[in-house]
Amino acid sequence: MRQQRYLSVLFIIFFSATFIKAQEVEDEREFDYGEKSEKGPKMWGKLKKEWEACNNGEMQSPIDLSHERVRIIQKPDKRHYKLCNATVKNRGHDISLQWHGDAGSVLINGTNYPLQQAHWHSPSEHTVNGRRYDMEMHMVHLNENATNKIVVIGVLYKIGKPDRFLSKLIRNISSMIDKKDEVKNAGMIDPREIKIGSRKYYRYVGSLTVPPCTEGVIWTIKKKVRTVSRAQVKMLREAVHDYAKRNGRPLQPKNKRPIYLMAPDDTA
Ligand SMILES: [Zn+2]
Repeated sequence: MRQQRYLSVLFIIFFSATFIKAQEVEDEREFDYGEKSEKGPKMWGKLKKEWEACNNGEMQSPIDLSHERVRIIQKPDKRHYKLCNATVKNRGHDISLQWHGDAGSVLINGTNYPLQQAHWHSPSEHTVNGRRYDMEMHMVHLNENATNKIVVIGVLYKIGKPDRFLSKLIRNISSMIDKKDEVKNAGMIDPREIKIGSRKYYRYVGSLTVPPCTEGVIWTIKKKVRTVSRAQVKMLREAVHDYAKRNGRPLQPKNKRPIYLMAPDDTA
């Protein structure tokens, strides 16, 4: 009888140990932002075969934007966003807002790119004339059938008044501090409430700024710099605390890529 009890205790210990171990593995970071880390940005391309572009790519992001060429455009991109159900997810390296269903799209040169998700980096990844900002938001759009499948609209922020859109999400985000892979229903979220501002924007072709660093991404970085409060930046950073104290990839070589400052033709 006693022996049997011992056995079952041993059994429980064994299984909980295996369970904890499995959780650790699951929790392990695939990549991070540590400058000297084995999984830091300089190593990303070596961690997995599918991530090679992170090291070998010729058109990687982010880059410094300096508007050497100005292009006056007659047909600016058109955004048609819709109210749609969304969830907030702690992805470990960032907090991401994912829409489920039709959240609308952006129309670029006759191709429609449906909106998938938005997430935040701090400090900013792109710099403008060498200046780094306090935060950068990315709205990721995807069209599997297009030649360039991914479109990212980026907005830069400096410390100042709180960002209204983030204020709305605050309860969801602050409740998932340090909880990697936690998902919370955020209810119906209207992407039109994300203030993007100005009609001027930088345009260039680059890559995703996280592994697998996929190239051919059409980048739109809005020229107008918006504001975010120090507390909001801190909250986003604390939510992913254990994993990423900062989550901005270092600047990548431009390799003579053209960068345009797009200015709508106001006379048209
Ligand atoms: Zn991003």
